[in-house]
Amino acid sequence: MSRLTLLERIETHLDKTGDCWLWTGSLSHNGYGHIHVGRTVARVHRLVYTLLVGPIPRGLHLDHVEEWGCTSRACCNPNHLEPVTQAENNRRAAARRRLRALPARSTLAAAA
Ligand SMILES: [Zn+2]
Repeated sequence: MSRLTLLERIETHLDKTGDCWLWTGSLSHNGYGHIHVGRTVARVHRLVYTLLVGPIPRGLHLDHVEEWGCTSRACCNPNHLEPVTQAENNRRAAARRRLRALPARSTLAAAA
């Protein structure tokens, strides 16, 4: 009887039909895939990145880069993930929120 490696176990729950590798297992409240590994719960995108690319530098977060085509926090495609600092991650999130808010604001301005 063969034991599945961690990566094989993860891959049985990945939907790779699109560019994003979407985790079809359970999601945390903020939309990230998670999986039990031993006694701990790990974020799946970080695990996949570590297994396929290498260790994530200490203290860095993985940004799901929308500019590279990523559409979901449940995505585990290492080609969509970039290790960034918390500050950079926050800066990008704020910039994307501003971009999304633009059409709404210009509609308001036009109505005023
Ligand atoms: Zn993606």
